[in-house]
Amino acid sequence: MCIFCKILNKEIPSTQVYEDDLFVVIMDIFPISRGHMLIVPKEHCENIFDLPEHIAKNIYPLAKKLSICVSKALGTDGINILQNNGEIAGQEVFHFHLHIIPRYKDEDIQISKPTRLKLEASEIEEIAQKIKNVI
Ligand code: AMP
Ligand code: ZN
Repeated sequence: MCIFCKILNKEIPSTQVYEDDLFVVIMDIFPISRGHMLIVPKEHCENIFDLPEHIAKNIYPLAKKLSICVSKALGTDGINILQNNGEIAGQEVFHFHLHIIPRYKDEDIQISKPTRLKLEASEIEEIAQKIKNVI
């Protein structure tokens, strides 16, 4: 059983801030910033590729609600919402989750600034066409 399923089963302790039919929200045990939370679906799925539609549909309204709440509670200046899919993308826990990461003006934390590819407009068009072909 995965670590988040164990948390959901109360086999491993966690600091929970919210629960409804579909989700629990826990504090990240190694927070990037004060108030870093994880929205975890109760149903196990690995990542975006096998995410059930009803979870996909309901997760962003909850992310919005939590963002407003954390901003009221802690006086955040901004929020990053992150969600990693696959090892190459930095996923470490293979039970889908959305990170809510409050940001503060006085805090010097690093959420990496990505390097950018130098692609010609035509190459971007070509990539877009490949994607459009399978939509
Ligand atoms: P990701 O890299 O997107 O898979 O993120 C996994 C997140 O889960 C990391 O931010 C970890 O700090 C967090 N995490 C791992 N174990 C626990 C735990 N037992 N309780 C709360 N958060 C956890
Ligand atoms: Zn799980």
